[in-house]
Amino acid sequence: MTSIEHLQQQITDGIAALTRDQQWITLLELTARTGSRYSLGNLLLIGAQRPQATVVCGYRTWRKAGRQVRHGERGIRILAPIIARRPRPGTEPGPRPSGDTTGDATGAVADTGTTGQPTPASGSGAGQRTRRPGQVVGFRPVVVFDIEQTDGPPRPGDTAIDGYTPQGLREALTTQINHRGYQVKVGGCGPAFGRTRRTDRTVTILPGQPPAQDALTLAHELGHLACGHLDDDTGYTHRGTAEIEAESVAYILLAAAGMDTTAASFDYIGTWAQGDLDLLRTTADTVIRVARPLLAALDLAPAELTTPTAAAADTTDATTGTDLVAGT
Ligand SMILES: [Zn+2]
Repeated sequence: MTSIEHLQQQITDGIAALTRDQQWITLLELTARTGSRYSLGNLLLIGAQRPQATVVCGYRTWRKAGRQVRHGERGIRILAPIIARRPRPGTEPGPRPSGDTTGDATGAVADTGTTGQPTPASGSGAGQRTRRPGQVVGFRPVVVFDIEQTDGPPRPGDTAIDGYTPQGLREALTTQINHRGYQVKVGGCGPAFGRTRRTDRTVTILPGQPPAQDALTLAHELGHLACGHLDDDTGYTHRGTAEIEAESVAYILLAAAGMDTTAASFDYIGTWAQGDLDLLRTTADTVIRVARPLLAALDLAPAELTTPTAAAADTTDATTGTDLVAGT
């Protein structure tokens, strides 16, 4: 198995492991993404109503973050605890909890304000509240929305990757994009990190991102171009397939350059694959066929080529690459 095939296999295996029990994984991912802000019950509710949710917040929290919930979007219903207010030190004991439920949630949904109680200005997320934890005296339904249901700029640094980025990689990726008749621009393309447009033949990347994220974005857009996703006016016929292919190519290119984008790439691929391992497998041929000449063209220094054994395998296969591709 060549290093390229090995890396592609890693993607398939990685996603397979992730999707073995999709519901459970959804739960874990939601837990990770939402920073354990939600109870198990609410994670199940979110998972059941919108399994691909990444970041969920109430309507007003999104507004504060500069994002607008799109008209007609259906909210995700979860349960917010009703907390009994505790007497503050130095004050008279308050009324009994049953008579003094503030109704403001301890979760990120506090700002939904369905109780008619004023909520603190800092109610943008759970765990930020300074109020002493009180007794949960009940629950009420509140509505939250996933970030995908909103419009607005990406939140800087939210999911951008960072870390080691080889010198010259950005230039090498840009050159490959140029060779395909596209120019690289830096500019607005939110909520994505990058965008490739056929009409004016541009690849636009979001400003102010870490070099590693820029490399991943460029490699991803290059992947789209190299896979032929923009070869006709109809756009991507199968968006999921196109995104999986582009990100898989990017993962392989950057892994060969010594970067580890496993977390970001697997997450992205997993989101588009939605547990469909057959879909993932159908992309393997294209990914390997496209990645091979790109790796050669990027001409990374041998020392930067992944592990020594993988680098050696690459050299060996370089001469028989066409045969391997033709055979698939
Ligand atoms: Zn894409």
